[in-house]
Amino acid sequence: MQSESGGAGMLVVISGPSGVGKTTIVRSVVDRLPDATLSVSATTRTKTGQDQEGVDYFFLSEDEFMKWVDEGRLLEHANYAGNWYGTPKAPVDELLDDHRIVILEIDVQGGLLVKEREPDALSLFILPPTEETLLERLKGRGRDDEQVIQKRFSEAKREIQVATESGAYDHSIVNDDLEGAIDKACKLILDERARRSGTVNASGA
Ligand code: ADP
Ligand code: 5GP
Repeated sequence: MQSESGGAGMLVVISGPSGVGKTTIVRSVVDRLPDATLSVSATTRTKTGQDQEGVDYFFLSEDEFMKWVDEGRLLEHANYAGNWYGTPKAPVDELLDDHRIVILEIDVQGGLLVKEREPDALSLFILPPTEETLLERLKGRGRDDEQVIQKRFSEAKREIQVATESGAYDHSIVNDDLEGAIDKACKLILDERARRSGTVNASGA
């Protein structure tokens, strides 16, 4: 893809409500597709015991984050549930120049911004089988307190509505059976890359 943001690689946006299984799916996709790399976002949210600096996120203070915004270092940024999140631009450009598949695991506001700026990005939306399942997963993850869970749950319902109504996502994947969802994500990415390069995806993924 020749885009404003980098060279011949492929940008993939993966969004979905909090707790739907994005991180779980994206990690497996990156393990299975040797050409794929996950972009590491910047955030002002509190680092939890499960987070590693520079691996899960770059954890910034609000002042540092706003400095990155002012310096134009972010491809997109959005406020989600009271915290800032953004995609560092330079590493994405370098990876695209290196012909990599670059995966952005970002919220719907960010997904819409990327689609506006990079219309060639492939965009996938992950859905829960039911709202009840989503709430169970948010609780089951054991990461957030009840107040945060309820905030994320109501944000989730809004995000699903906005994503569906926007028509900005190329495909949706229901994360019911995890392996099935991972297979589908890999297949959509490989098929799209093959389509762009004018070849047939022989992997059967
Ligand atoms: P997100 O990144 O979208 O917030 P996570 O990847 O952290 O979501 O997943 C939330 C929780 O749901 C985790 O505990 C994860 O193990 C679990 N989970 C993910 N996918 C499935 C699935 N298909 N079936 C059951 N549990 C799942
Ligand atoms: P969490 O706090 O659960 O890690 O992430 C909360 C939400 O922020 C998720 O929907 C996640 O996809 C989104 N997110 C993570 N990084 C970014 C980013 O760089 N930009 C945007 N817009 N959203 C992000």
